[in-house]
Amino acid sequence: MNFVDLKAQQAALGEGLRQRMDAVLDHCRFVSGPEIEELEERLARYVGRPHCICCSSGTDALVMGLMAHGVGPGDAVLVPTFTFVATAEAVCLVGATPVFVDVEPNTWNIDAADLRDRLKGLASGKPPAPGMPEGLTPRGIITVDLFGLCADHDAVNAVADEFGLWVLEDAAQSFGARRHGTRAGALAAVAATSFFPAKPLGCYGDGGAVFTSDDDLAQVMRSVRVHGQGCDRYDNVRIGLNARMDTLQAAVLLAKLDIFDNELRRREQIAQTYTGRLSPCVQTPVMPEPGDVCAWAQYTVACDNRDATVERLRHAGVPVAVYYPVPLHLQTAYADLGYHRGDCPAAERAADRVFSLPVHPYLDGDAVEQVVNAVVEAVGEARS
Ligand SMILES: *Cc1c(COP(=O)(O)O)cnc(C)c1O
Repeated sequence: MNFVDLKAQQAALGEGLRQRMDAVLDHCRFVSGPEIEELEERLARYVGRPHCICCSSGTDALVMGLMAHGVGPGDAVLVPTFTFVATAEAVCLVGATPVFVDVEPNTWNIDAADLRDRLKGLASGKPPAPGMPEGLTPRGIITVDLFGLCADHDAVNAVADEFGLWVLEDAAQSFGARRHGTRAGALAAVAATSFFPAKPLGCYGDGGAVFTSDDDLAQVMRSVRVHGQGCDRYDNVRIGLNARMDTLQAAVLLAKLDIFDNELRRREQIAQTYTGRLSPCVQTPVMPEPGDVCAWAQYTVACDNRDATVERLRHAGVPVAVYYPVPLHLQTAYADLGYHRGDCPAAERAADRVFSLPVHPYLDGDAVEQVVNAVVEAVGEARS
């Protein structure tokens, strides 16, 4: 059994994948080939935004979004502490300071009430942690749709409006998800996603995209993607990046988009089986409301004695992963900011208790059954 199974997916893709890749080998436009524009149109339609700009990774997508908003030194951007490191790293890369926010104990997404408290603290002029300078200007909020479940954007938007901030959606784990009829990637003014191979929609290398309905921000991000280009290649109007997506990656994604909705449905089936069978013995994820969709980038549960449980599962041949063992406010890279244990208690508790089970779409019924039985057994043994 594999935690993700890209080999099985390749078999399901069949000839279509090779044809798409061969087309690129034929025309040799490896950068900015025609597949990029085709993919951008399809992704924009899928997500329901007028603009999609493909780029080199999810991390670069976040940086592009921050650069479009003109974020820089002296600015504070609020980010959940329980996420992949890139969410906060992007803030630092543009010279701004991340202010960490605690998460909800059931969804592990950003906690709007805690967000509001931290913004009130910032407004009073007090640094959010002892290592930070005074007088940071809050500019925006990054939400993360953790494990594929959309954050509570209604609650976050209400706080953002109250303080006059923008929201940037980190949809790296939630491509394909939907909340209240809106797709992930369309839940904030700008959204960033990732096509890293293990994400719900993955390419065969690094890739990402930003989405927006704002024509001006779209134009800035297109320029940032290619060295701050202006009206032509040798007109440079701003400091930018080399953040283009390779044409071969676009070809892979075009082939994978054809089977993506089927894959999402299979992930949902597996998640429902897990939740039905495992909720008596571990904390299972909040399921999407009727009509909503979770992308199930991860199926993550929580229990006491997590480390002993994980060890037993690995011993039983069930691949598991721990996302994330350390919340960002306690990571070495952010130690200078001056956060301590106790500053974000819900995230700290999650980091001690969570682990993720295989939920890829090529897991068959027997494998799902094997995972369920192994978890029930491992939790029982770890407890006794
Ligand atoms: C994967 C991920 C990223 C970064 O994406 P890359 O394509 O690996 O750069 C950013 N944020 C979150 C929440 C992620 O899971």
